[in-house]
Amino acid sequence: MSNTKRIGMISLGCPKALVDSEHILSRLRAEGYAISPDYAGADLVLVNTCGFIDSAVDESLEAIGEAMNENGRVIVTGCLGARGEMVKEAHPNVLAVTGPHALEEVMQAVHAHLPKPHDPHLDLIPPQGIRLTPRHYAYLKISEGCNHRCTFCIIPSLRGDLQSRPIGEVLKEAETLVKAGVKELLVISQDTSAYGVDVKYRTGFRDGKPVRTRMTELARELGSLGVWVRLHYVYPYPHVDEVIPLMAEGAILPYLDIPFQHANPRILKLMKRPGNSENVLERIRAWREICPDIAIRSTFIAGFPGETEAEFQELLDFLEEAELDRVGCFPYSAVEGAAANALPDAVPEEVKEERVSRLMALQAEISERKLAGKIGRTLEVLVEEIDEDGAVARSRYDAPEIDGLVYIEGGEGLAVGEFAEVAIVDSDEHDLWGEVV
Ligand code: SF4
Repeated sequence: MSNTKRIGMISLGCPKALVDSEHILSRLRAEGYAISPDYAGADLVLVNTCGFIDSAVDESLEAIGEAMNENGRVIVTGCLGARGEMVKEAHPNVLAVTGPHALEEVMQAVHAHLPKPHDPHLDLIPPQGIRLTPRHYAYLKISEGCNHRCTFCIIPSLRGDLQSRPIGEVLKEAETLVKAGVKELLVISQDTSAYGVDVKYRTGFRDGKPVRTRMTELARELGSLGVWVRLHYVYPYPHVDEVIPLMAEGAILPYLDIPFQHANPRILKLMKRPGNSENVLERIRAWREICPDIAIRSTFIAGFPGETEAEFQELLDFLEEAELDRVGCFPYSAVEGAAANALPDAVPEEVKEERVSRLMALQAEISERKLAGKIGRTLEVLVEEIDEDGAVARSRYDAPEIDGLVYIEGGEGLAVGEFAEVAIVDSDEHDLWGEVV
């Protein structure tokens, strides 16, 4: 009978949590554990949880409950793990609870409850580690935690202050991923533009060459790897302006995921966020002058405590002017522990929902107009999937999971992870349709 020790993994939450799961899986495989795809075959189950908003907490607690029922030997990690008492109260028999980004603690808990297999050479790890994303793109996590204290957010209390990974290590990981066939690197963190602030932009090394731990320098180095490089979660600091020329040159993708959250100065101040709509509009204009092709994605919160109809209207006016490419909008959610919960004049749930719908309806019109402008152009796309109707791909203006797709009729001959040139023939408010050139 095999003495292989098998571990199941349930990974919930955002791309940052997914990267944590990949690191845990890589380490488990490196130590000779096998990964079980089901509860029945697992000696123990790890649940990587999310605790960002109440619905994520419920989903995480449910997932732990299911793992307890189906398997009974469960270790909990991730954002909800930072609130150990809540987990223990709901599920007193879990084996251990650790917080987010706690690889060593997770491994200690695994060793305590399922000692290491004797022959670690049985399951040698591929150098690029174990990844949960498709082979052709990968998330590259550059830092953990955040130095801001946005009043609606509890991430700093769950994940701590900013801790940047050494630039040499990040670049090595990127190179290894590219060698393993990755065609697109998605740079993630809680605050990408703050990269290096905590280490005073220390100089690191890439193959002996000095490189500062800083977003612009990182983007330039990643841009030299010959794959798509996409920046996510860029906080609107002034020095973001520095990466726009790199986009114009084609070193990195002309794509900026920059959450503005609101446009009204009073609400932004209550959120402890920078900027006012005039400055932001001015900056967007300047970015488009340097890089006319730039796709800007942003997220907004509607129904923040005290938001008046006039202040919300100001946000809609801003969107009309800014003509962003992709927009997400969330109703304000009173996450337990967030400072904003103490603010007066909470907005009723139905008003929040109604404002979200109005914002999304307006953005749908803007998006439809902008996508229609791409008809007649030829775009380079990365193939995501082949199905009976042809190929499904993404253009440089669209990130996986959150943005739009390009449907390619007659693209059956293409392969997943391949780049193709596609003539755009049709569009709607979200996606594009095209033919292989
Ligand atoms: S910058 Fe992002 S992660 Fe940091 S506190 Fe604000 S919302 Fe939270």
